[in-house]
Amino acid sequence: MSKLVTDSGIERDNRKAQVNREILGKRCHAGRMRRLTRWSAFVNSVLAVSFLLGFAATKLRAQNPEWTAPFPPFRIMGNLYYVGSKDLASYLVVTPEGNILINSNLESSVPQIKASVEKLGFRFSDTKILLISHAHWDHDAGSAAILKMTGAKYMVMDADVGVVEDGGKSDFAYGKNKSNWYTPAKVDRVLHDGDEVKLGGAVLVAHKTPGHTRGCTTWTMKVTDNGKSYDAVIVGSPNVNPGFRLADRPSYPGIAADYEKTFQVLKSLHCDLFLGAHGGYFGLAAKYDRLKAGDKTAFVDPAGYAAYVAERQGAFEKELARQR
Ligand SMILES: [Zn+2]
Repeated sequence: MSKLVTDSGIERDNRKAQVNREILGKRCHAGRMRRLTRWSAFVNSVLAVSFLLGFAATKLRAQNPEWTAPFPPFRIMGNLYYVGSKDLASYLVVTPEGNILINSNLESSVPQIKASVEKLGFRFSDTKILLISHAHWDHDAGSAAILKMTGAKYMVMDADVGVVEDGGKSDFAYGKNKSNWYTPAKVDRVLHDGDEVKLGGAVLVAHKTPGHTRGCTTWTMKVTDNGKSYDAVIVGSPNVNPGFRLADRPSYPGIAADYEKTFQVLKSLHCDLFLGAHGGYFGLAAKYDRLKAGDKTAFVDPAGYAAYVAERQGAFEKELARQR
């Protein structure tokens, strides 16, 4: 995400306070003036802070209208369902022993996810395990509320646990900006690269694909549909966001090598069903339209997956070369 509060905005409010101080200075007795100056500076700083917080929150929402735009819940294939919004992907894996939810999204997304699960005919309280794509607020800020509502066990990749448990404060890129913080959530099981999450016959494998966050996770599972088995890949994120430093004074030590590892992992995975943390990664809307039109394998797209990974790797390498 881009920086939400600009330095120029802060300067503008300081100038306004300065002008007020000057006006007061001309009219008032010295002692009264000092009190008024302090009071005026206080009022102005309160106004400035509220303005900036409001501005940041508005901008966050305005920047990403597709994050909160509703999307119909639907069965992708087999026991794998889509329960997210238009661009914040959430997945439900349904088993006879309860369900696994992947991604809690924004704090404001929770009612939307719950309604989607229920619209499909499942109980939200049957959510036994909660997983995430990575520890950024657009995928994990709703976790605390969902864990409270469902009693699910929260399972998170080792290197993302700290960020999840401090509500985004220790995130290497966004932790300094309070507008990116969210309700912390306690992790029940710390996952490591290659770990399996099992429930009612479903097996999900956690592949560590770091860089975008230190513990970014790509999930794979086998989905059986109409007697055939498909390899599903839910990409965590291979993106280098604006402001991430890969070379000089890196955002964290080893970030460039982590991205390189991620592309190796993504290229090594066999993919039939191409999915990811954002609908935009895999063309959710267009594929959904094809599914609705009767194409039952609309989300089977190994060529689209290979092209996506190659394109993202190219973008990473270009950015690395630019920064070097
Ligand atoms: Zn992210």
